Amino acid sequence: MRGFFEIEKTAPYKSEKGVHSCVSCGMYKYVLTPRMKPYGKFKEGIMVIGESPGENEDKRGKPWQGKAGRALQRKFKELGISLFDDCISINATSCRAIDKKGANRTPTEFEIACCRQKVINAAKHYKPKVIILLGGVALSSLIGYRWKSNLGGIMKWRGWTIPDGDYNAWVCPTFHPSFIERQEEKNEVEVIWTSDLKQAFGRASDPFPGIGKIDDCVHIVKDEREVETLLKDLNKGKGYMAFDIETTGLKPYNKNDHEIVSISFCNELNHAYVIPFPTKKKGLQLLKRLLQNPKIEKIAANMKFEDNWLNVLHGIEVTPWGFDTMQAAHILDNRPGITGLKFQSYVQFGVLGYDESVSPYLKSPNSNTPNRIMELVNDRRSFDRLLLYNGIDSLMTYRLALLQMIEFDRSR
Ligand code: URA
Repeated sequence: MRGFFEIEKTAPYKSEKGVHSCVSCGMYKYVLTPRMKPYGKFKEGIMVIGESPGENEDKRGKPWQGKAGRALQRKFKELGISLFDDCISINATSCRAIDKKGANRTPTEFEIACCRQKVINAAKHYKPKVIILLGGVALSSLIGYRWKSNLGGIMKWRGWTIPDGDYNAWVCPTFHPSFIERQEEKNEVEVIWTSDLKQAFGRASDPFPGIGKIDDCVHIVKDEREVETLLKDLNKGKGYMAFDIETTGLKPYNKNDHEIVSISFCNELNHAYVIPFPTKKKGLQLLKRLLQNPKIEKIAANMKFEDNWLNVLHGIEVTPWGFDTMQAAHILDNRPGITGLKFQSYVQFGVLGYDESVSPYLKSPNSNTPNRIMELVNDRRSFDRLLLYNGIDSLMTYRLALLQMIEFDRSR
């Protein structure tokens, strides 16, 4: 087996912005402990990712030696975990970040990127059951490079225990101990911090859920006859059905400019179906019958979008509506920025990045102007990518809705 430090030395982090390494960063030249090694006996399989070594850590050559480190050790002990025996600690930057006056400072995004490969390698090498991200810098290090839209801050991410398939570990972001130390009214944040950490430690004994190949759950149906059969079959069902549409923009009111290009359905955990949006009378009639079937309760992620487009462009009044994952996410947790399907898919199911290749085509310059989706529709292979994406949206919406229903029941 190759040793960890051997791997670490050879691998600079490559991103679309170029190659990032110790050479491009240069912090190692100015510190007492360059490239601080991961530290801890790791008995409980927990990895702790901090921000950057401080002055004390740099002097002593190991993490968590100052005030924040003592606070962290105390809190872990209170929860039955020894920071240095049960965990392995690493920082987002393994060299101390120092300002012009010689004081500790927050590492820059560039420095975080330069050290990212070390963090990735450590997580892959040690194979932790749980990875605790302490603060926004750790968050940026381990999630930022895979999260292409606006990452947001630790407030949005803390408290989720994410079954992250890239690391086969529960990734658990929470506050950095120095944030707790800085609070004047410590109680409230400390209660949240304690609860986040308790939840994270609890995950060490939870089996890691297999995520499976979600692409295989999506059935693309294009043939007109097969589409008709599918719509008839779906119409025989009852209970919940999630559906999702892909459109040429955000608002449908400029009817000459806009259309719905595809629609997907999901009424069981491992199967979703996606079709090009019907353009002929028969297909549209069958679709209308399905979307208005009184025995089928419809689910969407932001139902006002689906409701509006189908109504304005095709006179289809979806009924009955049964559940909206966006509203449910907001009721369950009223933090801003967490209700979107992509965020929920990652934090609840570890499914990340399935929108990457199509999302640039779905962005409209403003709410009435068409997006670039037709570039995908007009190329067979790209259209299949769009259909797959559309199918996964329904699949995730359905899975999320069922999970949220369980959470509502639990909190009653
Ligand atoms: N703060 C960190 O983020 N890491 C350390 O190792 C010490 C303080």
